[in-house]
Amino acid sequence: MKTMAKLLDGKQLAQAIKDDLTQQVAEMKSRLNKVPRLVNVMIGHDSGSCAYANSQKRVAEQIGIEYELKNFPETISQQDFRQAIIDLNKDPDVNGIMLHKPVPKHIDYHTVANLVGIEKDLEGINVANIGKMLLGETNIIPCTPQAVMEHIRSTGVSIRGKEAVIVGASGIVGKPLSILLVEQLATVTVCHIATSEAGRLQEHVGRADILIVAVGKARLIPGSWIKPGAIVIDVGINRVDGKIVGDVDFDSAQEQASFITPVPGGVGPVTVVMLMKNGVEAFKLQNS
Ligand code: NAD
Repeated sequence: MKTMAKLLDGKQLAQAIKDDLTQQVAEMKSRLNKVPRLVNVMIGHDSGSCAYANSQKRVAEQIGIEYELKNFPETISQQDFRQAIIDLNKDPDVNGIMLHKPVPKHIDYHTVANLVGIEKDLEGINVANIGKMLLGETNIIPCTPQAVMEHIRSTGVSIRGKEAVIVGASGIVGKPLSILLVEQLATVTVCHIATSEAGRLQEHVGRADILIVAVGKARLIPGSWIKPGAIVIDVGINRVDGKIVGDVDFDSAQEQASFITPVPGGVGPVTVVMLMKNGVEAFKLQNS
């Protein structure tokens, strides 16, 4: 009989990190008489963004962090939106700022994102923070890559010298994750659409001791491609026949892997908590 992979339960891992943050925030409150205050800036009412904001609010409240959602109309000009970010940046009562995507076409997301001060950059997306991450000089790191690293650490398996293969090379997941894995001395391969076009995805996936998939294509990776005993972290979120599934075919992958994240309930719940962790780090930076 085949042994099944151990499930990396995101809710359980998120709870352990939440407990730690709750303690830190309580300690900040008694020492400084204040707690981190985070502001989520959203333009319009995209349903996915609203659902994400609701879960952020719930988690912030559980930890004891103050959380505010600032909603702007779709018609806001680039100039007014820039000014809103500049004002939040200057406000000493705001410790962290997050910019929700999507933004309307007339708003240049990256220009505005770079107005967020590096000490308030909740998502670690400011170019300066990305640069600091490259040098291993900041604790404010993009949330999803951090969540992936927490899942890998929770297995207790050493990353050093392992073959880590990332499928998906976006600026918010795959690329920053590759830096974090190199920092831990994994040998890292980053695959993307051109790897598939060249017909070489299976070959790379098959070498992975640690496989992370962040593409957004339901069941792109069948279990038969996965090296027996691999750690599999599935970041993908896809809706198929009204159900949420990942980028990895879970049932067949579970027969090959040693550890695997479910979708939903794997990387997602930890990502939200990492936003709060960044809020706590930002607060520490501003009060040190
Ligand atoms: P993206 O569209 O920005 O990037 C996708 C990447 O996948 C690109 O590098 C592209 O080259 C690559 N790709 C596309 N088709 C491919 C193929 N056939 N073979 C190999 N590579 C291919 O996506 P993203 O924003 O990084 O998100 C990826 C997935 O992760 C989505 O499903 C998204 O919903 C999910 N996501 C989840 C979380 C979470 O917290 N759980 C956070 C962010 C993103």
